[in-house]
Amino acid sequence: MAEEYDLIILGGGTGGYVAAIRASQLGLKTAIVEKSKLGGTCLHKGCIPSKALLRSAEVFKMAKNSEEFGVNTGDITLNFTKVQERKQEIIHTLYSGVKGLMKKGKIDVYEGIGRILGPSIFSPMPGTVSVEMNDGTDNQMLIPKNVIIATGSRPRPLPGLTFDGDVILSSDDALELESVPSSILIVGGGVIGIEWASMLVDFGAKVTVLEYGGRIVPTEDEEVSREMERLLKKRGVDIVTKARVLAETMEKRDGSVTIQAETAEGVKTYAAEKMLVSVGRQANVEGIGLENTEIEVEKGHILVNEFYQTKESHIYAVGDVIGGLQLAHVASHEGLTAVHHIAGGEADPIDYTTVPKCIYSSPEAASVGLTEQEAKEQGYKVKIGKFSFRAIGKALVYGESDGFVKIVADKQTDDLLGVHMIGPHVTDMISEAGLARVLDAAAWEVGHTIHPHPTLSEAVGEAALAVDGKAIHS
Ligand code: NAD
Repeated sequence: MAEEYDLIILGGGTGGYVAAIRASQLGLKTAIVEKSKLGGTCLHKGCIPSKALLRSAEVFKMAKNSEEFGVNTGDITLNFTKVQERKQEIIHTLYSGVKGLMKKGKIDVYEGIGRILGPSIFSPMPGTVSVEMNDGTDNQMLIPKNVIIATGSRPRPLPGLTFDGDVILSSDDALELESVPSSILIVGGGVIGIEWASMLVDFGAKVTVLEYGGRIVPTEDEEVSREMERLLKKRGVDIVTKARVLAETMEKRDGSVTIQAETAEGVKTYAAEKMLVSVGRQANVEGIGLENTEIEVEKGHILVNEFYQTKESHIYAVGDVIGGLQLAHVASHEGLTAVHHIAGGEADPIDYTTVPKCIYSSPEAASVGLTEQEAKEQGYKVKIGKFSFRAIGKALVYGESDGFVKIVADKQTDDLLGVHMIGPHVTDMISEAGLARVLDAAAWEVGHTIHPHPTLSEAVGEAALAVDGKAIHS
């Protein structure tokens, strides 16, 4: 029998399940169709597990350096099985939480593969969803007034470097490692590559990053990229930029992999026990029935308007499947905007220049708004304020005083255009800059805000004052 809904959401990741909760709060009869597990990539194969491993790596490093703090600990060893168990426990706790939220919101969850059907006996418009149930029971037919597609993305392989789950790893595979490899080649020095490089070097692996572009984390401000490169190299990570890997030269033999790459110093051969390929993610647009609709896909992503409507105005799409900033918090806010639009309420389009971006390596990096280069390219006359953590008492107390906060402001209006940070706990501190962007703050207003002493956040206040040459401690 067919079941009717106000809203069916395809995909129960961060984009999908957050949208479902808001829809239920607004009184919409809502269901999620999820082929794997509620929580999606972020909870099971992305943000949460990788951050759990990064935290263990950080604690391991800190324990090894504890004598600096006057704490003698004796022999430090790594129990990687326990590291993985801890990661699983965190996932399990959060997964139970998400399932509980679905129950609380009276959101029906169908475990299976959902496909959008074209016009049929159930509806004159495309949008009826057929669910092939995981438990092998009969297909379910769901008739919604609206649909949100939130099917996410998956690691993108490089031609010739097919993931095998053993030697050539995707980030999904790397999360399941049973031991720390003695050495690893990381192809792609973006967010994923750098988080893994930082984690694995702290766990004791020999790490080489082969990045095609001229700098690692190329979407960050150039000064942040350079500082990240400097600090990772100082910790022993070998970083090769302008490296073009020659996939056809890859060889797997006796538990190791070799590959050649064209570099500034000519063609070189690299060898390691494992290889992680982290060159981006591709949207999950296949097998969900898009061919039964007018929905347009361009460069592998579903095309939407500012309210996330596809060409079929009652079918929306949010999160990684539409491209743009592939971040969990972006997906959830896109989902909320789509639901508000469906419910006929206030739905403000998202201003993507207010979205914080975070890298959870050691050191961390975080940013919001325009880089200095982007601001200049957009015709702004900019003024820059920069403040080092070296002059921040709390950073010295922590024993982590590398890095800085950099503020890009409009010379004419003093408006904050971008804030870029690298250093201790900056992924938590970036929210202040996000709020400042949302409130359209001027640099002087951030500088005028009283930052408690001693805290790391003083670096933000000082950088804002530095925009007009008024920083106190520099
Ligand atoms: P990315 O786009 O961030 O970086 C890919 C990197 O690979 C780039 O530096 C690119 O120049 C390089 N590259 C591309 N082709 C290459 C080649 N042939 N050889 C060598 N280098 C090559 O992609 P990612 O790191 O895979 O991450 C995927 C997505 O997931 C991103 O959108 C990212 O923001 C998101 N993500 C975010 C977080 C976070 O917020 N902390 C964590 C993980 C992933």
